[in-house]
Amino acid sequence: MSARILVVDDLAPNRHLLEAKLSREYYDVLSAGSGQEALDIADTEKLDLVLLDAMMPGINGFDVCRRLKADPKTWHIPVVMVTALEETSDRIRGLEAGADDFISKPIDDFNMMARVRSLLRLKMITDQLLTHTGQSLEDSRPMIESLDRPNGRILIVDDHAGRMERMAVQLRVQHDVSLQMDPRQAIEDSRGDIDLLIVSLVSDEFDGLRLCARLRSDEKTRDLPILAIGEASEEARLVRAYDVGINDTLMRPVETQELMARVATQLKRKFYADSLRDNFNENLEMVVSDPLTGLGNRRYFDRSMMPLIDQAKTGTAFSLVMFDVDHFKRVNDILGHDTGDTVLKEIAARLVTNFRSIDIVSRYGGEEFVVAMPETTAADAKIAADRIRALISGTPVYLDGQALSVSVSAGIAQATSGESARDIFKRADEALYKAKLGGRDRVETSPIKKAA
Ligand code: GH3
Ligand code: MG
Ligand code: MG
Repeated sequence: MSARILVVDDLAPNRHLLEAKLSREYYDVLSAGSGQEALDIADTEKLDLVLLDAMMPGINGFDVCRRLKADPKTWHIPVVMVTALEETSDRIRGLEAGADDFISKPIDDFNMMARVRSLLRLKMITDQLLTHTGQSLEDSRPMIESLDRPNGRILIVDDHAGRMERMAVQLRVQHDVSLQMDPRQAIEDSRGDIDLLIVSLVSDEFDGLRLCARLRSDEKTRDLPILAIGEASEEARLVRAYDVGINDTLMRPVETQELMARVATQLKRKFYADSLRDNFNENLEMVVSDPLTGLGNRRYFDRSMMPLIDQAKTGTAFSLVMFDVDHFKRVNDILGHDTGDTVLKEIAARLVTNFRSIDIVSRYGGEEFVVAMPETTAADAKIAADRIRALISGTPVYLDGQALSVSVSAGIAQATSGESARDIFKRADEALYKAKLGGRDRVETSPIKKAA
């Protein structure tokens, strides 16, 4: 669905011009001829962006903006203030009213489309966050706004020290700013903890476009927001910069309010995206890990076995070790289920700390743990499993100062070329059964199967 933009201007020709330009880019455009009409539309329609004329009779743009930002239904909609050229005081008022960015009249197409794209991207990510909170638009607000940290880490790259310093002074009021004149070092710095890069495209000493392209091809900096500073007279170069993958532009001479607004938008989008990604990873983690022990679960283990089974086909042995806690029902019956859980956690911890880091330790079910040992024969797996078995039965688990002895039995199967996961599991399970029958607290190995 295309984004919905509301254009607000008291003069019909201005509205029509903007409507025409935005419709040509396939946006869905609504328009309002007064502040009150704008507020009415915002109250009933779903909007993604508002282009708002500052000077209007009746409720002016600043008041409309302030009301939109205060309203629980519209606080998340980005607002671009349309102000008279070079009216610094209007821009300060706009920022105070909560505007996200500015364009000045007469409207420059390139600049307007740049504002629209950048803010729609922010709106899109805000919407994604909103669906993730699972709460109402109003209740989500404090949570989402708290993601927007006030002090971003910004790196400025330019070959002109004075120019860089002037910009840094303005940004340092709020942000942590570092400067870099050497483009090669800038690439290194960008790979560190940086939230936003500001690059000059008008340097004599280095090619800012090339630097941006390099950053986009590096996995570590692919998503780093880049704000490029260029000359309005060099539009072609700015268009190229967008092709290379920069996120927004600023024209020289850099105007303080524009700088602050654009930096704020880029940082916000970065912080929101980081949070989405972290939460997404957390969800993924929940899918593959066991909440009690933190070990990988069955799904995780089955997936991890696939490459090992492939390698076994080319002759690289791996072994599967299946552990089962001995007489675990008694622990539950006598000491309670919670104590049982504590014992399981303790056994899980002993397994992970005593197997190698390349071994894949998982809680396969209830009180069953399964370990895949890459590049390991059954004989070597037996030595490891036996050592860990002895360690478990030799060291009691302490529960509120009470020592409790627990033991495990294990069955081992070495995978043979072409053998299925199911067959390997079956053989390990048979060996485990043998260990149980043999008296528990012991390890048995399945006879090595002849390759088919
Ligand atoms: P054996 O030596 O033959 O393995 O005897 P066992 O008592 O361990 O027998 P079995 O494997 O059949 O019993 C497993 C028990 O583990 C039954 C189940 O209630 C308990 N159990 C499974 N999952 C959990 C869990 O997450 N927490 C607790 N506390 N107990 C669990
Ligand atoms: Mg069992
Ligand atoms: Mg058991």
